[in-house]
Amino acid sequence: MSVYEQLAQAMFPDIDKTPADYETIYPPRQLKEGARVTRIAPSPTGYLHLGTFFTSMINRLTASATDGVFFFRLEDTDKKREVDGGADDILKGMNDFGLAIDEGFVAPGVVQGDYGPYQQSKRAAIYHAYVKELVKNNLAYPCFCTEEARQISRERQEKDKVRTGYYGDYAVCRGLTPEEALQRIQEGQPYVVRLHSMGNEENRIKFDDMIKGTIEMPENDEDIVLLKSDGIPTYHFAHAVDDHLMRTTHVIRGDEWISSVPKHLQLFKTLGFKPPKYAHVSPIMVEDNGNKRKLSKRKDPQAAMHFYAQQGYPAASVREYLLTIANSDFEDWRRANAEADYRNFKFNLKKMSVSGALFDLNKLNDVSKNVIARMDANAVYQEVLAWAKEYQPDFAALLEKDAAYSVGVFSIDRGNAKPRKDIAKWSEVPDYIAFFFDELYQNNLELPENVAPVDAAAILRAYLTVYDKEQDKNAWFETVKSICSPLGFCPDMKQYKTQPDAWKGHVGDVSTVIRIAITGRRNTPDLCAIMQQLGVETVQARLQAAITEFENRL
Ligand code: GLU
Repeated sequence: MSVYEQLAQAMFPDIDKTPADYETIYPPRQLKEGARVTRIAPSPTGYLHLGTFFTSMINRLTASATDGVFFFRLEDTDKKREVDGGADDILKGMNDFGLAIDEGFVAPGVVQGDYGPYQQSKRAAIYHAYVKELVKNNLAYPCFCTEEARQISRERQEKDKVRTGYYGDYAVCRGLTPEEALQRIQEGQPYVVRLHSMGNEENRIKFDDMIKGTIEMPENDEDIVLLKSDGIPTYHFAHAVDDHLMRTTHVIRGDEWISSVPKHLQLFKTLGFKPPKYAHVSPIMVEDNGNKRKLSKRKDPQAAMHFYAQQGYPAASVREYLLTIANSDFEDWRRANAEADYRNFKFNLKKMSVSGALFDLNKLNDVSKNVIARMDANAVYQEVLAWAKEYQPDFAALLEKDAAYSVGVFSIDRGNAKPRKDIAKWSEVPDYIAFFFDELYQNNLELPENVAPVDAAAILRAYLTVYDKEQDKNAWFETVKSICSPLGFCPDMKQYKTQPDAWKGHVGDVSTVIRIAITGRRNTPDLCAIMQQLGVETVQARLQAAITEFENRL
């Protein structure tokens, strides 16, 4: 046994599998030519962020477009930053917003696939097998430098105005003979394991980022840590081992990792792995006092996916909106393919913004109004109900009391060629449809300025006498017109405009008075349909109550 082999054996006495074994356990995937394998690899450090969801969507679409696989791996190696239930929250968010995961963690507590464990804290033996092999080949070594020694070295580097880090002459433990290292291991000294870097800072490396284009950086010469003193891998090392063994073809991740690519490429090379293709997603930006800045977890409530759930944005709206900021040609495609599944859109990584897509809540609202306008009444009912059960249970109970009535409410101005686009999120619905429910209706009887209470009362009295619940929209409007002239209101807008002084008002004012009496609002969807939905009793009662109120104002 060579002395390096002895060292490796002393460091990992219990590891009996070799990298070759793992190559057999996790063979290359049998997918069609060109299929892309992508992943999202969050740490369970809190709730699901918009940025993580956005990056997940990009990964999902990249896999779907090639009949590939998108998997979820949990990077739970930093126990200090871990939050209880953090992983479940992330997964629930992904599920709730309709992001299908093929493999790994697919839902809270549900794991599937042949390339697991999909949780880094359960992969220690795998990482150790690879490090053991590196140590055997003198490509990694134990480093016994204490935290204090490292601190002193860093301070010296700063004073000397040289790059900080563990490289070249500063890589003290690289100079230990294997015999010395072996002895210190046998004495039980604590250590981390470092890569024996073959790189040179003077050399430049080049790689093609699928979003940012060709990038050139100095080669890595740092003896980076592979395993911490507790045997837990660093992100860098785990990324190389996991993405190799899980057969990831495309690593699409946040661009905070771009500066680490030289380390990663070196690791893949040293380990004998084929490197994946990289695509680094720029952060989502917001406008703040005329300046662009990164969406902030701390400052911006809309950075958390919870925000969209609470506000009641349909999952489809959030996805559609994110697609508009992911690829600028998505909107044109959507206009031409209103009903198509978004996964049929030819998503292109190369068309993503290099400087960072700008997040705009108004635009999300617009997109969402379109999405909601295209839904049928039953779908709206189901979604509003699900939202209300979570956030406004009283309102949910009201909706459920007479489900058919509620669906009827949502059918108004829907399902025709030009559906009304006025709801952006479910939290607007309780107020928006309040007048359909006596429990919520507030008779806010504020008249247009040019209509006196005496005239309003007269209009409503006249209307009560001609009100016919069977009338369709056209007949309804003819009836409203018919009561105008005797009351001094012009039944025809064009005619009114030629001689406004000859009248008290016009047919629009008359219908507004009726609208206010019945709904307490000046603007509503189709009033005739609203009245049919409310039913004769309610309509008559509200007209009568308004008459009394206006008469009291005389
Ligand atoms: N755990 C890393 C993070 O949350 C994953 C980065 C990656 O996708 O490789 O940032």
